[in-house]
Amino acid sequence: MKILVINCGSTTLKYQLIDSDTEAVYAKGLCERIGIADGDIKYDSSKTGEKKELKIDMPDHGVAFKAVIDILLDPEDGAVKSLEEIDAVGHRVVHGGEYFNSSVLIDDEVIEKIKACSDLAPLHNPANLLGIDACSKLMPGVPQCAVFDTAFHQTMPEKAYIYGIPFSYYEKYKIRKYGFHGTSHSYVSKKAAEILGKPIEDTKIIVCHLGGGASITAVDGGKSVDTSMGFTPLDGLIMGTRSGSIDPAVLQYIADKESLNVDELLTMLNKKSGVQGLSGLSSDFRDIDAGIAEGNARAKLAFDAFCYGAVKIIGSYIAAMNGVDMIAFTAGIGENDSKVRAAILKNFSYIGLEVDEEVNSATHGKEAMISTADSKVKSYVIPTNEELAIARDTARLVEK
Ligand code: ADP
Repeated sequence: MKILVINCGSTTLKYQLIDSDTEAVYAKGLCERIGIADGDIKYDSSKTGEKKELKIDMPDHGVAFKAVIDILLDPEDGAVKSLEEIDAVGHRVVHGGEYFNSSVLIDDEVIEKIKACSDLAPLHNPANLLGIDACSKLMPGVPQCAVFDTAFHQTMPEKAYIYGIPFSYYEKYKIRKYGFHGTSHSYVSKKAAEILGKPIEDTKIIVCHLGGGASITAVDGGKSVDTSMGFTPLDGLIMGTRSGSIDPAVLQYIADKESLNVDELLTMLNKKSGVQGLSGLSSDFRDIDAGIAEGNARAKLAFDAFCYGAVKIIGSYIAAMNGVDMIAFTAGIGENDSKVRAAILKNFSYIGLEVDEEVNSATHGKEAMISTADSKVKSYVIPTNEELAIARDTARLVEK
């Protein structure tokens, strides 16, 4: 089956055309600056593999989707001769609230529920709905599937997702921990169980998805039992530009001192904090590592605070699961930054995790066991592939 995978962000649209039988990628690309001037689409030619770029204004996601269709159908660079070759579309949808604990085929009722969750993800869900709408118009009758970032975490027990605030806020507004990056945590934990060669029901895995946004999940018996992001993706670890968890009373204090309103405080926490805010240098770990090599003390502080935060969350999840078989690293930092992995893993020698320094420092962007052969607890780099996971779910639902 040929599955078109669509991932709409507030100003972006990423796509891949994947063969769900062979898992080959026929086409992929990224539309940027949707709704802003100077739009631009970067894509790979499906015929030559050549990197191409198209400058085109995209006032909304509908225009961007139409441009993607034109690229897919292009006689020189396209992947298909007719849209009829595309069997189904899989959409990444950020927030499924408490409605969805797995992927679903999209119908009017599903669209209404995704709308109902828009309050919970105001930047993302409306963009996802625009993608679904554009698709329905240009490819009527083609089945569409929604794959939610939150769905995998719906297995968390109540004691893990509830916040210690009046229960009425949960009842009235569904304020609770939801967790994100679920597609990635699910994909990597399944792969980890395969690697361990055990039924997933008998495994305890901690997945560290460390990218621009970062979250860690405790996966017990194949189910998410706790995760570090919360009601929003601002919670948990220090991230590229996000603060992660802080004492909420700090907000009032800063608001008073700097005369900031709630929106301005949230912008500060989302965009000006984290590794960027601490280092004053960059949100990108490549720059942080380079800064440390040049003796930049604040780059070192940002690195140390990020890794220390990860150590504490992993430690708490080992306690939560009463054990761990594997600590897996994925996403931009997790797959590529061996220094971050080494700094985190050195604190787990107490559970018998021994790092193979040589393999670790040579591992970038590929699957590898970075613990030693006789390490009691294993550690692996497992590259994530959210698009493939979306294509697999879509094919499964359409074939049913
Ligand atoms: P997202 O921003 O969508 O979460 P990624 O998972 O691709 O995206 O993560 C991007 C981040 O990964 C970058 O900001 C950077 O910090 C980190 N990164 C990417 N490549 C490297 C590398 N070679 N070495 C260190 N860090 C890297």
